Amino acid sequence: MNVQTNIPLSTLTTMKIGGNANYVADVTSKDELQQLYQNSKKLNQPVYVIGGGSNLIAHDEGFPGLIIHNKIGSITITDDNPTATTIVAGAGEIWDDLVKYTVDLELSGIEAMSGIPGTVGAAPVQNIGAYGQELADTFVSCEAYDTTTDTFVTLTWEDCKFSYRHSIFRGEATGRYIITSVTMSFNKTKPEPPFYDALDKYLTAKHIDPTTVTVQIIRDAVLDIRMNKLPDPRVLPNAGSFFKNAIVEKWKADDLLNTYSDMPTYPVDDQHTKIPAGWLIETCNLKGEVIHGMKVHDGNAVVLVNDAATGYADLAAAREQIIDTVRDKFQIVLEQEPLELTLIVQA
Ligand code: NAP
Repeated sequence: MNVQTNIPLSTLTTMKIGGNANYVADVTSKDELQQLYQNSKKLNQPVYVIGGGSNLIAHDEGFPGLIIHNKIGSITITDDNPTATTIVAGAGEIWDDLVKYTVDLELSGIEAMSGIPGTVGAAPVQNIGAYGQELADTFVSCEAYDTTTDTFVTLTWEDCKFSYRHSIFRGEATGRYIITSVTMSFNKTKPEPPFYDALDKYLTAKHIDPTTVTVQIIRDAVLDIRMNKLPDPRVLPNAGSFFKNAIVEKWKADDLLNTYSDMPTYPVDDQHTKIPAGWLIETCNLKGEVIHGMKVHDGNAVVLVNDAATGYADLAAAREQIIDTVRDKFQIVLEQEPLELTLIVQA
């Protein structure tokens, strides 16, 4: 097991901000994970587990403990019948490699989540979603190291309490579990229209008959759409959607529609409506603006790119300015989507 010292968190997170972590170790097995965690506990050293670092914001003061880089791999088919296939994937697998694997097998369930950066283990934490699919749709269970009991446990779909970009892992159980593998069930049916607006428009523009669509066509379409709208974190540092879409009471959305008739809205339930955060930010004329070194991305205003931020303070100032501007115009308070590395798991 290779433990490195004084590693800049800016090199471990796609936003490329953050001071040094005292120690960083890659773990490739459950045994290594348990051993490292218990060692840190004995030394009274805080531990934080990361996957791809693509949905994580680090702070300038760094991290006074051990960062565990979860690289527990393997993808295994555990059940296969005429209608469905069950797959167990290690938490350290790259999410998009898993998507490609399932699409190559013509399995449906996560094809619209193609191209999302990060690892399999990070996917349940915020119940990742894109273009009408979310992890909770295919999730069966996950195995995790329970840091409070020093045991490996299986958490069911119900245990995880998934909601919109949320789960117990970033809510009531923050820091308790370290996910080691995820079990998902995929079906063998073809994707059926209606598709998400952006996908539908893409297929129409490419003259693709929606009734002939395969999982491979959806994957290719999503990768193409993403490439044109989203900045590649290897070129322009960013953490994907920086704000969650606003979920507001239906009356509030209806009220805003009286003034902003072009505002996109999507029903969540009888009483709540989703308004895209990107539209709110763009309508405040912030798209393309550089605020405290953070650029509101030209292709999609929900993404903030680290253009020239000198550290976390710049990011925080940009975030507050955007939140304040949107609140003053729409009386809606945006929430940050990426996690912050200060949510320390105390060993
Ligand atoms: P978009 O197509 O410009 O649409 C803006 C927002 O409207 C999306 O966030 C989406 O909500 C919502 N939306 C669009 N069509 C919808 C429909 N038919 N029903 C319900 N909601 C609808 O969005 P975008 O920003 O380019 O993102 C496209 C997809 O990729 C979205 O699903 C988005 O969540 C996902 N994505 C996620 C990240 C991330 O970092 N988490 C980054 C980029 C894109 P939802 O977000 O609820 O789907």
